Amino acid sequence: MKVEKILGYEVHRKKVKNINLRIRPNMEIYISAPMNLHSDYIENFIRSKEKWIKQVLKKIEEAKQNQLPSQYLSGEKHKYLGKEYELEVKQGNSNRVSLKEGKIILTVISNIFENSDEKKKVMEKWYFENAQKVFVNAIQKWLEILDESIEKLSIKPMKSRWGSCNYVKRYINLNTELIKRTQFEIEYVVLHELTHLKYPNHGKGFYRYIENYMPNYKMAEKMLNAKHYY
Ligand SMILES: [Zn+2]
Repeated sequence: MKVEKILGYEVHRKKVKNINLRIRPNMEIYISAPMNLHSDYIENFIRSKEKWIKQVLKKIEEAKQNQLPSQYLSGEKHKYLGKEYELEVKQGNSNRVSLKEGKIILTVISNIFENSDEKKKVMEKWYFENAQKVFVNAIQKWLEILDESIEKLSIKPMKSRWGSCNYVKRYINLNTELIKRTQFEIEYVVLHELTHLKYPNHGKGFYRYIENYMPNYKMAEKMLNAKHYY
C-alpha cells in the first residue's frame, strides 16, 4: 500500500475496486483508491465530493459544540439579553452573579469553585431572577398597551417553545431561556402570546393584529428561529 497526496488529501492506494471516501467522527478524511487508477480521475472524484465533505464537517463541528456542556470556567462565553459576555469565575464568601465591564462575574464559595453542576445552579438562579424582572415588565407593558389581563404568568424552562398561552384560563408561559435573547425578541414573544388571548390560532387576523403593534415582527421571528414556537 502506498500513500499519495492529492488535492491536499491522503489517498491510500490499495487492492480495492473503487474509490472510497469516508469521514470519520474525529473529522479525519480517509480515501482509498485502486493501485493503478490515474491520479486525474481521483482528483476529479475528490473535487466532486468537496462540497459534501464541507457540509459533513460543518455538521460534525456543530454537533460537537452543541454537545459540549458548559463547565462554568473563566473565559467561556455566556449570553444575556442578546449580548455575549465573557465569564469570569471568582472565589468569594457567597454565591452570586453580577455584570461588570462587559463580563459576567460568577462568584462562588471555595468548595464549589470546581463543581460545574453547582456553578450551573448559581448561574441558572441568576438567569431566572432576571427573567422574572424583565418578563414581568414586558408583560405589564403589553397588557397595558393591548388593554388585556391575564390570570397567571409562569416562567420556566421549556423544551421546544419560547412561550405558550392557554387563552381559556388566560395563563401565559414563557421560556426562561428567552432571557438570553434581545429585548426585542422577548417583547415579540410576549406580544405573540398575549395576542392569542384574542386570536387562538395563527390566522391572518392574528398576524394583522401583531403587525399593528410591531410592524417589524417578522424580523423577531427570524431572530428567534421560527421552529421554536409557540
Ligand atoms: Zn402562537
